[in-house]
Amino acid sequence: MSKINIPIAKPIIEDEEIEEVVKVLKSGFIAQGFKVAEFEKEFAEFIKAKYGIATSSGTAALHTALLSCGIGEGDEVLTSPFSFVATGNSILYTGAKPVFIDINKDTYTLDHDKLETAINNKTKAIMPVQLYGQSGDMDEIMKIAKKNNLTVIEDASQAHGAIYKKNGSDFDGKKIGSIGDLGCFSFYPSKNMTTGEGGMITTNNEEYANKAKMIRSHGESGRYKHAILGYNFRMTDISAAIGLVQLKKLDNFNQQRIKNAKFLNKELANLKGIKTPKTIGDSVHVYHQYTISIENGSRDEWIKFLNENGVGTGIHYTTPIYKQELYENLGFKDKCPVSEYVANKVVSIPIHPKITMDDLKIIVDVLKRASNKFIG
Ligand SMILES: *Cc1c(COP(=O)(O)O)cnc(C)c1O
Repeated sequence: MSKINIPIAKPIIEDEEIEEVVKVLKSGFIAQGFKVAEFEKEFAEFIKAKYGIATSSGTAALHTALLSCGIGEGDEVLTSPFSFVATGNSILYTGAKPVFIDINKDTYTLDHDKLETAINNKTKAIMPVQLYGQSGDMDEIMKIAKKNNLTVIEDASQAHGAIYKKNGSDFDGKKIGSIGDLGCFSFYPSKNMTTGEGGMITTNNEEYANKAKMIRSHGESGRYKHAILGYNFRMTDISAAIGLVQLKKLDNFNQQRIKNAKFLNKELANLKGIKTPKTIGDSVHVYHQYTISIENGSRDEWIKFLNENGVGTGIHYTTPIYKQELYENLGFKDKCPVSEYVANKVVSIPIHPKITMDDLKIIVDVLKRASNKFIG
């Protein structure tokens, strides 16, 4: 096997993160404490939401967010099947049923035009997945939610710092994760910023915030007083210490991703056989992934060629969630043709901030050679 010289993801942990972790370890307070509180405050300020509730993972954030707005048995939640399985699983955990709505073929985000026909008296929420680093049309989604009295929980696990822009919109200039009733983020190492494992809920709703805080800590309403069923979804101060440093760097990380993407967009624009990612309007896409679509030829062969030439790849995602074995065994029979089509076409290529100009040139060169080889 040849060596992958340019990996698809690479967390950036420097001396400052290490020093902050050491300080926490030496302080003796290592579980959820002051650092988590500080991280919640800073992250909420960054997103421009009133409250931040840190959790042990992005999955736990989604699960907690759903529970804090009362979603459970008998309810339905509309979401995208073209996502990491955690999106669907978080809905299953609550006893509610995920109802999968197809995506837009250009942006890979929830197709708002397909939402309304799926709404019935069981529908309680919409969970748009802000995939690869941008959202879909949040004006349309929020309008449909309002009209049908639905809660909107943004799965913003891939969109830390992304900005929604639309002329004349109430949400113009808002950060992704602050438009819906709740936003959920993941700090897994491959994401735009990391805490090792970790997650965050952002909201302006005090009631949801309070309930989320209880749920993440065994339903605690006061010391050893447990009012509702909760979990241990707490973040540690060790993780929060990393998160505080990463948050300061996030804008720079994102700027680097955007710069890398601009270069690739320009260089790959007319390359035969592939389609480069599209940004909605003037919105700020933060390129958690730079995902191209292989329009001609075999995707497997393109991937093999890229990997053999040192370029790492990822497929996000190979299968719509409802086609996962778990979901098929549960009897899911959703059909989302666009998701099924793109699941066979997409390939993510390296875009993270550690990529150098030399790396970018190699990526472009290898793709050009692949295009010549497979398309001619
Ligand atoms: C990463 C991710 C999650 C889950 O986050 P974890 O921190 O890994 O639990 C959920 N949804 C999407 C879209 C993700 O990318």
